[in-house]
Amino acid sequence: MSAAVLVLNQNYEPLNVCNERRAIVLINRGKAEVLEHGKGHIRTPSQNYARPSVIRLMYLIRRPRPKARLTRREVFLRDNFTCQYCGARGKDLTIDHVIPRHRGGKHTWENLVSACRACNHRKGGKTLEEAKMALRRPPSQPKVSPYYVLNQYLQSYTEWQKFIPEWELAPLMAHAS
Ligand SMILES: [Zn+2]
Repeated sequence: MSAAVLVLNQNYEPLNVCNERRAIVLINRGKAEVLEHGKGHIRTPSQNYARPSVIRLMYLIRRPRPKARLTRREVFLRDNFTCQYCGARGKDLTIDHVIPRHRGGKHTWENLVSACRACNHRKGGKTLEEAKMALRRPPSQPKVSPYYVLNQYLQSYTEWQKFIPEWELAPLMAHAS
């Protein structure tokens, strides 16, 4: 029992992903219905189940929009793989703390930017003013698709794709490649 199950809200909006065990509990308690089956069956001591692959909750859940995790890769993605000082685009990017750490700069979306090696070296441990450098745009927390959590699954669970609105799917697939 390890396959992932897509959970839709009562209004058919993708909500999250759970495991089969959790999905079967929801179904048995009448809290969810199966919309798509996966391949094969799950055996438990008492029963056989057709594998659920997509389920829909019988009640509406309200939840906040998910947030992007603060990682190097996500900072590069937010900055479109572009040095935020000189505008060079490329693979050889580094992460720069706008206010240096030893000056109290924090590890936050607002203080981290993508920088090419040359710019990062030039800026060193200085502030923007001291280095006489400027940012192309103020860094901020990126907005994230509500289906962000799904992007790692969509390649292998193709039967889920029809439940994701197309306009959300396109950037997700680009994101995953
Ligand atoms: Zn640069």
